[in-house]
Amino acid sequence: MDLRGKKILITAGPTHEKIDPVRFIGNYSTGKMGFELARVAISLGAELYLVAGPVWLDTPKGCVRRVDVVSAAEMYEASLALFPDMDIAIMCAAVADFTPIEVATTKRKRAAEDLILHLRPTQDIAAALGEIKRQSQLLVGFALESDHEMDHAQQKLVKKNLDAIVLNSLRNEGTCFGSDYNQITLLTRNGAPIDFQKKPKQEVAIDIMTQLMTLLG
Ligand code: C5P
Repeated sequence: MDLRGKKILITAGPTHEKIDPVRFIGNYSTGKMGFELARVAISLGAELYLVAGPVWLDTPKGCVRRVDVVSAAEMYEASLALFPDMDIAIMCAAVADFTPIEVATTKRKRAAEDLILHLRPTQDIAAALGEIKRQSQLLVGFALESDHEMDHAQQKLVKKNLDAIVLNSLRNEGTCFGSDYNQITLLTRNGAPIDFQKKPKQEVAIDIMTQLMTLLG
């Protein structure tokens, strides 16, 4: 079985939410997991569309289209535009959950008082795709949790109308952000959760794509 003829959207990397012309709120995501998934999907024959936040990674060879974005709002626009045409969407990006309400047009100066930034929630891209998802489309999310991992991942699977969710725990040392290794549990709507060993992200990507192909039937 392979992914020939299948169109796959992968979001990867962090987002940067601007505070002023020289500063942003970001996170430690490097995009490695998403880019490895993209490579494996291409090697299985998929037509790969990548929406990448600010990362320093080369475009996987054979990628049909890479859209580089910076903010959560830009990632939302790019993902929503591509999704209707996709067979599978894998939301691997570490999207900011909050963004500054006001962006200063000039550099904020050092001051003696505390600086209070007002943030508003960003739009949840995965949940938005979950709302418009067709029966034939497969929507996959990631969950990075630090406590009650299985419960939180299970809740996200249902709330965002995902078909599967890849759980990473911050309690697994030497995995997740920036690491070349990951240790995941895959949760689906019907089957029992599947636990995998800690492995290089490239092998984790193969495990994930293999499981997704069985879900496609
Ligand atoms: O709710 P939480 O951020 O933990 O959910 C993680 C999943 O939701 C990931 O698949 C992530 O890519 C996606 N997400 C998103 N848009 C957001 C926040 C998270 O697509 N604004």
